[in-house]
Amino acid sequence: VKHVQEERQVCVEFPEATQVLIVGGGPCGLMLANELGRRGIEVVLIDQKATTAFNPQANATQARSMEHFRRLGFAHEIRSQGLPEDYPTDIAYFTRYTEHELVRVHLPSAKEATEIIKNMQGTWSAAELPHRVSQKFVEAVLHTHAAAQPSVSVNFGWALTAFTETETGIEAAIQNSRTGSTRKVSAQYLFGADGPRSFVRRQLGFFYEGDGGAERDFMGGKMLAMYLRAPAFYDVCQHPKSWMYWTFNNQRRALMAAVDGKGEFAFHTQLKPGEDASTISDSDAQTLFEQAMGCSIPIEILSRDTWLAGRALVADHFQRGRVFLGGDAVHLLTPTGGMGYNTAIEDAVNIGWKLAAVLTGQAPSALLETYEPERRPVAQRNTAFARRFADSIGLYRPTPAIESDGPAGDAARRRAGAYLGQHARAEFNIPGFTLGARYDGSTIIADDAAPIPPDAPTVYVPSGKPGGRAPHVWLADGRSLYDTFGFEWTLLRLGANPPAAEPYVAAAQALRLDLRIVDCADPEAHDLYESDLALIRPDQVVAWRNTDRSMLTPEAIFALVTGRLGHTSNGSMPVTEH
Ligand SMILES: Cc1cc2nc3c(=O)[nH]c(=O)nc-3n(C[C@H](O)[C@H](O)[C@H](O)COP(=O)(O)OP(=O)(O)OC[C@H]3O[C@@H](n4cnc5c(N)ncnc54)[C@H](O)[C@@H]3O)c2cc1C
Repeated sequence: VKHVQEERQVCVEFPEATQVLIVGGGPCGLMLANELGRRGIEVVLIDQKATTAFNPQANATQARSMEHFRRLGFAHEIRSQGLPEDYPTDIAYFTRYTEHELVRVHLPSAKEATEIIKNMQGTWSAAELPHRVSQKFVEAVLHTHAAAQPSVSVNFGWALTAFTETETGIEAAIQNSRTGSTRKVSAQYLFGADGPRSFVRRQLGFFYEGDGGAERDFMGGKMLAMYLRAPAFYDVCQHPKSWMYWTFNNQRRALMAAVDGKGEFAFHTQLKPGEDASTISDSDAQTLFEQAMGCSIPIEILSRDTWLAGRALVADHFQRGRVFLGGDAVHLLTPTGGMGYNTAIEDAVNIGWKLAAVLTGQAPSALLETYEPERRPVAQRNTAFARRFADSIGLYRPTPAIESDGPAGDAARRRAGAYLGQHARAEFNIPGFTLGARYDGSTIIADDAAPIPPDAPTVYVPSGKPGGRAPHVWLADGRSLYDTFGFEWTLLRLGANPPAAEPYVAAAQALRLDLRIVDCADPEAHDLYESDLALIRPDQVVAWRNTDRSMLTPEAIFALVTGRLGHTSNGSMPVTEH
């Protein structure tokens, strides 16, 4: 009777036909459900697990992801998750957690971050600072908001088992993970956000390319992950509280992120030759933890898993026909730099507005063909940056003297502290990594002749050149410029005497595009955009600006940025003076 009731419930909540079927309820799939749901697109999301992640997973939500959560209206909710608001997010390196502290990089608490960002400029010109929070908490918030959208049906406990593409859509077979019962779902598009072992990717015959297993002293090999509760840690560790604790010694290198600030931690150590995860008992695992601690304390192991560090892989394709892939299904990063889940979030943001525009008739399906050319190069860039960080920390080995008493030990620790300090400042201060990804060369970007800004993890150069994140400023009234943007398209009128908006409004209306006009007289914004008009895409990327070389008519601009022209502004197109 219970099963029949459950099936009936499923039939009520779970339509047989939908516009987009999302497979995978990790950050990528849940974010896409939010992007589409906010636009009224019908979505069925399935995930084979019973619920969102129990394990902490990723530890950092980068600034760009936080800006997207702000755009969706729940950044403040995310920032309230995880550590207490006044808990420092320092990164500290020790020989062992209860022994020598080698170096510490101070980072603000969640409460401080919301204030500090309002006075930051230049390379950290952003609406949000990063938030050091376990992915499990972010997933829960994404889930709540996706499920609250009337057009979205979120269904944990269902696995995709087969799919075929027809001329008009996708026919998918799904199976209840608990009862084994099966159902069919048809959709106009399928999005595979189904993680590293992606069924969708394998069905399409796509392959990861790149480095599948670099070997290093740390962050290059089989890792043991333990989610554990050890409140006594704060009693025995006499060093100031940190968000991330690293050990650097010859016996046990490890990293550990504070999860709730009360005693839950995500502990990761690399297994050494001869240590086999399948034969490690809980008591062995406790010993590994104690080696990092430098003493014994009571711990409760909440879960254990293994994972492979050292991968820098990107799939050869992100799309075929009506089937798209995003997140770990198409790119695997070593977690150094903390960009794996954040890259997955931006995949969802990129495809979200495009799918919605096509499904609502505002753009031709050609717009969807720009997803892979825009996102695949970013995935390659991000895997390469993450790999550099992994080399920097993983190939640097402790000397035997690091734990010695006396002057030789002191000198070894000073040297290690200096190296690890500069490494941490590079790995954990990454405005360029998170804010600097660009879509140069995309056919829906009206490029101009300005040089492409430098691309380095620690340096972000705000630029109004089309193809990059819209430069951000704080306005005189204290608002973020981003908070003035429309949810879809925005035309920024900049400076004291910008051109009239009417021709652009008319051109957007002719294509049924939702365009908000924002007048911004702020001189800093005018300087940053180097133009008096800038067209901002729904994903807050500059699509076009009014430079001398850009002589496109408003009609041609909107045709180009919605995929109707299929070539860049360098091609022959109607021109006008304005
Ligand atoms: C130890 C560790 C630390 C990390 N630290 C960071 C960090 O600090 N910062 C960062 O950005 N990233 C980090 N990452 C990476 C991050 O966790 C992943 O990049 C992120 O989870 C990818 O999200 P996703 O939605 O693409 O895939 P996943 O989170 O893997 O979600 C995929 C979902 O698909 C479901 N699924 C799979 N197959 C099917 C099917 N056939 N039918 C239905 N459902 C299916 C799965 O159940 C799963 O829920 C870390 C990863 C690890 C392992």
